[in-house]
Amino acid sequence: MKENVDDGIELEIREYSDADFFPEQCPHCKSSHIKRLSYRMREIQDLGTPRICRRIHYERVYFQCTECKEIFTILHPLIPIGTRFMPGVIDYVITRVLKKGDSIRRVWQDLKELHLVKVSKSTVQRWVNEHGNRNYLPIDLSEETPPPNFSGFLSLDGTFKSVKVKKNVKKNDLSPAR
Ligand SMILES: [Zn+2]
Repeated sequence: MKENVDDGIELEIREYSDADFFPEQCPHCKSSHIKRLSYRMREIQDLGTPRICRRIHYERVYFQCTECKEIFTILHPLIPIGTRFMPGVIDYVITRVLKKGDSIRRVWQDLKELHLVKVSKSTVQRWVNEHGNRNYLPIDLSEETPPPNFSGFLSLDGTFKSVKVKKNVKKNDLSPAR
């Protein structure tokens, strides 16, 4: 989907949904009777160009087992939990700062002006610090607002049990169109 916004900048939106990976069975009782319960739409920023602003519209789906009534989520293969940025944005920062030796300020400015990613400098700093330590992927659970009767399948310490996704999804289908 493409739209023109002001200054001749094109807005390129891709839509992803957890419903594309409908769970085969309940992680609690293994029943295959599962329904879609509710969802939250989230906007995630991706690396654009000076003329193309790239955003993902991501539908986070809460599923419910109709046998045991437990509510659970899945781990989407392309979208890390709780993120507001696609992994490619973070990779870009890490490569430029840690491999090319560019300054955080410079990379932050380029993100904003050349790639149309809105991010605070402190967030960029945090990505660099976290990657400098170990290959730690930031998980920000504050973005998750589960429904009141959520079973806690996504546990508070950030560990996440993924639910098997359908096997007939080919790897190629997952790679974003360029
Ligand atoms: Zn169940």
